[in-house]
Amino acid sequence: MNQDRTPFRIEYQPIITMETGQLDGFEALVRWIHPEQGLISPSEFIPLAEDTDLILELGEWVLKNACRQVQQWRQNRPYQALNIAVNISGRQLLKPDFACEVSEILQDLGLNPSSLTLEITESIALESFQETVGALNQLRANGIQIAIDDFGTGYSCLSRLHSFGASSLKIDRAFISQMGDTGERSEIVEAIIAVAHSLKMRVVAEGIETVGQLDRLRALDCDWGQGYYFSRSLPSSAVDELLKKAPN
Ligand code: C2E
Ligand code: CA
Ligand code: CA
Ligand code: CA
Repeated sequence: MNQDRTPFRIEYQPIITMETGQLDGFEALVRWIHPEQGLISPSEFIPLAEDTDLILELGEWVLKNACRQVQQWRQNRPYQALNIAVNISGRQLLKPDFACEVSEILQDLGLNPSSLTLEITESIALESFQETVGALNQLRANGIQIAIDDFGTGYSCLSRLHSFGASSLKIDRAFISQMGDTGERSEIVEAIIAVAHSLKMRVVAEGIETVGQLDRLRALDCDWGQGYYFSRSLPSSAVDELLKKAPN
């Protein structure tokens, strides 16, 4: 896809290290700018693209461009190793040679594989279990990080997910909003964090919207946070500005 003519755009949502409050990196979120209808949410078009091989082309475009973008930010800020997380569909993951393609993209850019996290949802991870485990093993062998996305929305058990060798788990926004604005109903989140940590996985809380939720998640030792409380997803030009202003 030609960068200038594509109707797609990538936005970047900051991911914050809970302990320090510092920027750890970004999640790349694709947007479709339709000539008549304006901005169309990925929740509307990704499932359609996933029904066809279109998702392969779109997914590769997002991966390449998000990696290129973060590498540029890293070069402008050599003292800060910004990371990038990219969403991957099942069809992409199970494409033969996917792991090689990812490594090639990273090599061409000179981006360290450990800076890239691929986010996969628990549902795709369970569709073709053996193939998925194989593909994830290859990616991990090449140094790439794996995150289980939208954790808690499927019906998978943690021990099965553990065989994916993911380094982190993202707690779905639904559980964070369930905590309430002050974070008072946090039992489920607390349990997820405890089990994840006991399996040596780190935890990202998505959809943090209030300081009460943030404080509670900090107290529960959640590793990273993401949500409107910190920032919505931003076009790359807005991230440029943000990085210029940030002291480090
Ligand atoms: P996701 O991976 O769970 O991404 C998080 C979604 O939550 C994003 O929606 C983000 O904008 C939204 N969000 C983040 N913080 C908050 C918050 O504090 N409050 C609320 N209410 N929402 C928040 P978005 O950008 O509409 O993306 C929807 C989904 O589309 C993503 O869910 C992901 O599954 C999928 N998606 C996005 N980009 C890609 C892509 O490049 N490839 C694939 N395969 N899927 C993608
Ligand atoms: Ca995600
Ligand atoms: Ca998610
Ligand atoms: Ca979600």
